[in-house]
Amino acid sequence: MGEKITQIGAGLAGPLLATSLARLGYHVDIYERRPDMRKESIGAGRSINLALSARGIHALKEVKIYDQIKPFTIPMKGRMIHDIDGSTHLQPYGQRKTEVICSISREQLNKQLMTLAEETGKVKIHFNKICTHVDLDKETVTFQDTKSGRTNVFHASLVIGVDGSASAVRDAMVESGKLNCTYEPLEHGYKELTLPPGRDGNFPMEPNALHIWPRGQFMLIALPNLNKTFTCTLFFPMEGPLSFKTVVESEDVIKLFENQFPDALGMMPGVAEEYLSNPIGKLGTVFCDPWHVGSQALLLGDAAHAVVPFFGQGMNASFQDCSLLRKLIDKHSGDWAVIFSEFSRIHVKNGHSIAKMAIENYLEMRDHVNDPTYRKRRKLELKMERMFPGEFIPRYSMVSFHQIPYSEVYTRGEKQLKIIEAMLEKFDDISEIDKIAVQDYLQIPTD
Ligand code: FAD
Repeated sequence: MGEKITQIGAGLAGPLLATSLARLGYHVDIYERRPDMRKESIGAGRSINLALSARGIHALKEVKIYDQIKPFTIPMKGRMIHDIDGSTHLQPYGQRKTEVICSISREQLNKQLMTLAEETGKVKIHFNKICTHVDLDKETVTFQDTKSGRTNVFHASLVIGVDGSASAVRDAMVESGKLNCTYEPLEHGYKELTLPPGRDGNFPMEPNALHIWPRGQFMLIALPNLNKTFTCTLFFPMEGPLSFKTVVESEDVIKLFENQFPDALGMMPGVAEEYLSNPIGKLGTVFCDPWHVGSQALLLGDAAHAVVPFFGQGMNASFQDCSLLRKLIDKHSGDWAVIFSEFSRIHVKNGHSIAKMAIENYLEMRDHVNDPTYRKRRKLELKMERMFPGEFIPRYSMVSFHQIPYSEVYTRGEKQLKIIEAMLEKFDDISEIDKIAVQDYLQIPTD
């Protein structure tokens, strides 16, 4: 297969996509604006660690590289909720041993994915090359070398934009008038903080959990790292009486933590200094349609569907894209116009669905998780899943432990919620609910 594919972006999805394409026999040139993080210490940009779950793992397994990624993961079996009085309780994510999500360092993952892509012998990553323009009519891409400042124009008949939420490829497609795109900023941003190991050098909290301090309008979360630290992320309003605009001095930070996260404060001696020196990250959602222009250009990953991080799905969805595109290439070998338009036709709705669910999940994480009604609903959901395995699957599980398309998850989730709410109205005591009692409520869709 002589065809060369040009990819922009060697973040998380870019190298995995290139590995997939290489396995199918294609040669891939990736252009990445950053230096090679395996040689220069630059960090990996946004969020220090992330949650990898079934969709992402499945895509890694498909190209046979999961075994090289797994050693970097820490399984998290549920949400450890921290109340204001310091008490904690675990809310399991699922009810099977395998139903866990995994914390992984973005930097380790990114480095490993790049190395594995290069090891195919068919992928070349060109670092320090920022894509400044894509001319879809002339089939050229313009790059600027970030070190020398020199500009080069290359011929590229087939361009895949895996260049993240502020995609330059997407900008060119929008400019061409063949693609609609909106960006919806979230009114909350985030700041990352470190929770160091305890005095004994060990994890200071349960390592196999995602810790959450839900406080209604905002929340703190913490994911474990292999070096026995946790990376905490404070999701906080950008503006308002208690916000990034008002918490600006050391005393404000200490007061916020004393009032809202006292148990975390005891474990974070350097919190005020770190808060003051770390940047505020912005969050938002990219809705765009279609994801391609003819057979010339396609968007994949955050470039097509950047979502807010509250379902832990941005990377997982991007990895799933790689696997879905691979299937279409297999099916329509070489017919890029069909491959790209099918990819867009089938999956835009999935991108939009996970975007909506991710926004909804912010409310669940920061507020509802501690609400007695939510906890009762969750208990019944799990009971329903035990009574009707495979038919009734809680929405969180459908997203995190299954491969069901997100748009179907959304519809099934809505129907299930109605069933659960109707049953909770009738039954005070969940233990009274059995298969016979729920007959009247069941219109569970089968697929
Ligand atoms: P990116 O990883 O952003 O990679 C894009 C690459 O393109 C970068 O290397 C960039 O340097 C390069 N690039 C950009 N512009 C150009 C240009 N003009 N020329 C050349 N190169 C360019 N997802 C999860 O699944 N689980 C989580 O727990 C999770 N947590 C998150 C927490 C936070 C705070 C945030 C912000 C995101 C989180 N995500 C999570 C989402 C996840 O980070 C993204 O979905 C994922 O990184 C998308 O991969 P990508 O390759 O499409 O984009």
